[in-house]
Amino acid sequence: MTETRDRTTVAIIGAGVAGLSLGNFLLRNGVDCVVLEKHPRAYVEQRQRAGTIDAFGVRMFREWGLEEVLAGTPVPQDGSGFYIDGQALRFDVDDEDDESLFCPQQVLVRNLTDVFLRDGGDLRYEAADVSLENVTGERPVVRYRSADGAARVVECDFVAGCDGFHGVSRRSIPASALTEYSHEYGYSWLSVLAAVPADPSGMAIHPRGLAGMIPRGPHASRVYLQCAAGDTPEQWPDARVWDELGARFGTPVPAGEIVEKRIVPLRSVVFDPMSHGRLFLLGDAAHIVPPMSAKGIHLALHDSEVFARAVIRQVKDGDRSLLDDYSATCLPHIWNYQAFAIWITDLMHNAGYAGHEGEFRKQVARAELRRQFTSDAAHKLFSELTAGTN
Ligand SMILES: Cc1cc2nc3c(=O)[nH]c(=O)nc-3n(C[C@H](O)[C@H](O)[C@H](O)COP(=O)(O)OP(=O)(O)OC[C@H]3O[C@@H](n4cnc5c(N)ncnc54)[C@H](O)[C@@H]3O)c2cc1C
Repeated sequence: MTETRDRTTVAIIGAGVAGLSLGNFLLRNGVDCVVLEKHPRAYVEQRQRAGTIDAFGVRMFREWGLEEVLAGTPVPQDGSGFYIDGQALRFDVDDEDDESLFCPQQVLVRNLTDVFLRDGGDLRYEAADVSLENVTGERPVVRYRSADGAARVVECDFVAGCDGFHGVSRRSIPASALTEYSHEYGYSWLSVLAAVPADPSGMAIHPRGLAGMIPRGPHASRVYLQCAAGDTPEQWPDARVWDELGARFGTPVPAGEIVEKRIVPLRSVVFDPMSHGRLFLLGDAAHIVPPMSAKGIHLALHDSEVFARAVIRQVKDGDRSLLDDYSATCLPHIWNYQAFAIWITDLMHNAGYAGHEGEFRKQVARAELRRQFTSDAAHKLFSELTAGTN
């Protein structure tokens, strides 16, 4: 069978947050690219995960003239709170400067897709069996099968691996050329997608473990319940989910439809370096943080911006220095956020539940948590980290 060959500057693997942000940045700056996504459009646009874009992300989209991608389904923000041992608390501090906003991940992805296609972007869904060749040579090649089964080839100058933690890009790098750093937290989350508004909305710290109920749209919410590392979804029938949520928030939570239920082992991973020849890893392909830190989107956007600037410099000025520095530029930022992720994740899980690290650690975590509510200095640091402005 004959194969169809195309030529582009950047082949982007994956149409998630990292891939589509990058695609839009490049398109706006006259750098041609092709985005290959293995799933159909409807699947990608309905995948619900994160819900907040931090101040860094909001500022970044504005600066690239892409503020329109932040427009979305309004999500109720009032009433989002913090509960300790069943008692509602509020940060008694001024968060006026916080520009972060609720924007469910699927809304952001849908908007990025609409803008990319409207502006003439080349986005190919249902690209099967993507494989990368010659990434250490002058002209990398990406092979795949299109939705009609035809063999396709994209020749490019650079490959951007934006295909998430389980994608093909990172696996194309020989293990000997990559170091994996990982940290297991020793507990998991039962992550539930429910077709009900988040009520109560917020996070609860309780001796039975952490709980969260976070808006994901006017009629959808994510429910999180801290659970043992070895738990399975079968151990969590629907009735147990709603009972446990009520117990940890200290208020009954009416049962609703559960759309998805899975166990998420909490861990942090970083791969170093984030490039190999002309292949560059962005977002979850290069690192993951636990969802408690809510920094996965931040890091994906940060990588996309750093890489976009580097490619634009190369194409416009013939200067490869920013590309050569890509990994060294991103990694210190990523480690900074891993430090934040470990701190906030352990703090929130230890402050209620003593079963993991004991009563002493619980008391220390509570003292530290209390400081976030009462000390301006501690809260300022907390706000900077959560807003992504550091
Ligand atoms: C349950 C859950 C809750 C989360 N909550 C938050 C939160 O509150 N805040 C936050 O900031 N982050 C959160 N995250 C993390 C956040 O969703 C990720 O960090 C973010 O999606 C990373 O974006 P990405 O573009 O790198 O990867 P992805 O969004 O995973 O996109 C990768 C894309 O590549 C495609 N792909 C994969 N393999 C291939 C292939 N072989 N060929 C072609 N395409 C391929 C995938 O289909 C996908 O479209 C959460 C994650 C989960 C799982």
